[in-house]
Formats: sequence, C-alpha cells, structure tokens
Amino acid sequence: MKYKRILLKLSGEALMGDRQYGIDPQRLAEYAEEIKQIHDKGVEIAIVIGGGNIFRGVAGASNGMDRVQGDYMGMLATVINGMALQGALEEAGMQTRLQTALKIEAIAEPYIKRRATRHLEKGRIVIFGAGTGNPYFTTDTAAVLRGIEVGADVILKGTRVDGVYTSDPEKNADAEKFDFISFEDVLAKGLNVMDTTAFTLSQENKLPIIVFDMNKDGNLLKVCEGETIGTTVTI
Ligand code: UDP
Repeated sequence: MKYKRILLKLSGEALMGDRQYGIDPQRLAEYAEEIKQIHDKGVEIAIVIGGGNIFRGVAGASNGMDRVQGDYMGMLATVINGMALQGALEEAGMQTRLQTALKIEAIAEPYIKRRATRHLEKGRIVIFGAGTGNPYFTTDTAAVLRGIEVGADVILKGTRVDGVYTSDPEKNADAEKFDFISFEDVLAKGLNVMDTTAFTLSQENKLPIIVFDMNKDGNLLKVCEGETIGTTVTI
C-alpha cells in the first residue's frame, strides 16, 4: 500500500445516491464495502463526512435564517451522516469510533487527537463529525485540519467526478483532466479543488490531495495502492 494512514473526505451529497435528500442505505453499504477493501489491507482510515444532503448553513442564510445557527445545524447534519456511516461500517465487520468537534456525549467521543491516533493504530476507523466545530468553515477544511493533526499521508476526496479538469466537464465537452497538478497551478488557473481555506491549509502543510470518483468499484483501493486514479494535487 502506498499510503499507511489516510483521511477520506466524503461529501454528504454522495450519501443521497439517487435520492434528492437524506441517506440511501444502499449507497452506505457500497461505501462500507469499498472502505473494507482498504481496511483489510491494513490502511489506517480516518473519515470526515459532510452534511450537504441534510443541511447547509449558507442555504439556510439565503432563506433568511441566521448564518451561525444554520452552520451549527449543518454541523449536526454531519453527525447524523457520521452515525449512519458508522452503522454501515460496523455492519460490514469493522470497528469504528465517532469523535465529534461538538460534544454529544451519549453518541460520540469528544475529539481528542491522541485518542484518535490511538484508535487508528489499533485498526479502528475513526469518523470525525461536526466539522471543525466552528461556523463559517466547511467539512473540507475539517478534513484537512484533522488530516494534518492525525498525521495522515494524504487527503482522499471521494466525489462523483473523477478528478480535476481544465473546466467543468459536465458543461464543457473538451475539458481535460489532470493526472497531477501542483497547488500553485490550481490557484494560478483558478481551478476548484476545495474551498480556499481548506486548500491553503493543505498547501502550507504539504499534505497532498487526491480527488477521485468514489462511486466506481475498487477505486479507493486502487488509489491506496498508488495507481494513478483521479487527480493528485501536490507541492
Ligand atoms: N459546517 C460548519 N463548520 C464546519 C463544517 C461544517 O459550519 O467546520 C456546516 C456548514 O453550514 C456546512 C454544513 O456544516 O454547510 C455541511 O458541511 P459541508 O457543506 O462542508 O458538507 P458537504 O458539502 O461536504 O456535504
């Protein structure tokens, strides 16, 4: 395996499957199987999951809701997704721990870096919920932050597109995909990999990001084996 410890970022929207809202159990089970493939190979796995399938603070604010209130609701949405994913992973036979940036003692451990790394060393999958615990941030930023904190080798951003393109491939037929690109070039070309806060944090800490299609069978394993799948962003 090319990577010993990874931080997998999954968007909340990915959990919807073909639905318009919420969580598709079939999709959850598929993700659990993909994750099991790399777990069986001994990869240490930390996961940050988004909440966009349930609630986004910005969307609430655009409908007149207080932004901070909305953001906390979004953070709670990530905890719901984290619990769903935890259930699916355990159903598939893996040991897990959910740690949250906001304390919810009945269902999750509080986030404690030392404890999280200990779980990882023991082969438990650690899911980080509630983002960074702060409004005005995203789960991409939480992913990079936790990735740096627990010493992940790479951020794996599993999405429904298969990498970073010269322009939006869904709108532009001659958009070309990058296999590799530097942080600097992403910025110079104005490409969208993660929001700016997440992206600069990753760049400053020299933590590479791989954007890949999580919905394709076996892709996660291939990425961990070092195959050129998706787009790798490095220094
Ligand atoms: N959020 C936040 N602080 C964080 C992480 C998330 O306030 O550190 C809120 C924010 O409102 C965001 C929502 O939680 O819109 C869901 O997260 P995100 O939009 O990143 O989820 P994704 O797009 O990955 O599904």
